[in-house]
Amino acid sequence: SNKKKKKVDYKFYDSNLNVILLQKAKIENRLRHAMENNELRLHYQPQINLNTGKIIGVEALIRWQNSELEHVSPGEFIPIVEESGLIKPIGKWVLQTACKQNKAWQDAGLPPINMSVNVYKNQLFNKGFLKTVNQVLEKIQLEPKYLELEITERNRKNIEELSHMLKKLKEIGVNIALDDFGTGYSSLSILDDIPLNNLKIDRSFIQDISKDKNKTALVKNIINIGNDLNLNIIAEGIETVEQQIFLKQHNCNIGQGYLFAHPLSVKEVEELLVKGEIFTSAS
Ligand code: C2E
Ligand code: MG
Ligand code: MG
Ligand code: MG
Repeated sequence: SNKKKKKVDYKFYDSNLNVILLQKAKIENRLRHAMENNELRLHYQPQINLNTGKIIGVEALIRWQNSELEHVSPGEFIPIVEESGLIKPIGKWVLQTACKQNKAWQDAGLPPINMSVNVYKNQLFNKGFLKTVNQVLEKIQLEPKYLELEITERNRKNIEELSHMLKKLKEIGVNIALDDFGTGYSSLSILDDIPLNNLKIDRSFIQDISKDKNKTALVKNIINIGNDLNLNIIAEGIETVEQQIFLKQHNCNIGQGYLFAHPLSVKEVEELLVKGEIFTSAS
């Protein structure tokens, strides 16, 4: 029997896939209890007007504090959430928590800002999603214009269906941003096919500004196209002053990134909102 056990162990540890599947099952199992155990938090990353230095909004980013598992990043567990039946409750929790927080800041007399919420791939087409958005806004009494939903091209089932859904959301009065633009199999026609307010240029492009000639040219042209289409352009993942200056010079007006602020706790955001700006327009 000793021999047998060894064989099983060998098979198990040798197979990368088994290890990954086991890990996935473990994460999914723990996630099921994460909400009731109060392990989920939202952090908020400021979005900055690159001309004035003022905070115009924040993006809500989920964090999971779990004592048993080593740090699991959203990049690891969001795909599991998307595949499991957890999309509905966790997605709703994120939406509610973010909207409540934005309303609380307004009620505290802080300058009103935009709240961006990432929408899970499968969440958008869930039956009842529209109703949920409506109900949450109504219950919390947050004006729809202060909520922005970030979708990615991965949300795209078929373009008509996506377009229809976004039109309905815009009728409610919320804003729509296309996240991670430039990654995946994006084609420019999506900018014409679906109703959008904002376009977020993916970090991978911003990182290569002035390092990679082709990427730099692409960034310039994405900004131009976006501006021509009357979209707000948001650059993701700005880490250097060089990138900031380049973007500003080429008419990208909004930025987000570690250069300005990491995703922050509620208290840290409040301190910044009281201050009003990350840098002054003179600098
Ligand atoms: P995302 O929506 O593109 O969010 C931006 C990610 O880039 C965040 O990672 C943020 O912390 C990171 N980031 C921001 N500035 C910088 C920078 O200057 N340098 C670098 N290296 N990274 C920067 P995070 O929080 O790990 O989230 C990863 C992804 O997970 C998000 O990408 C989003 O797609 C997803 N996600 C996070 N929270 C949620 C959520 O509540 N719902 C859904 N559906 N997805 C979420
Ligand atoms: Mg996002
Ligand atoms: Mg993004
Ligand atoms: Mg991104």
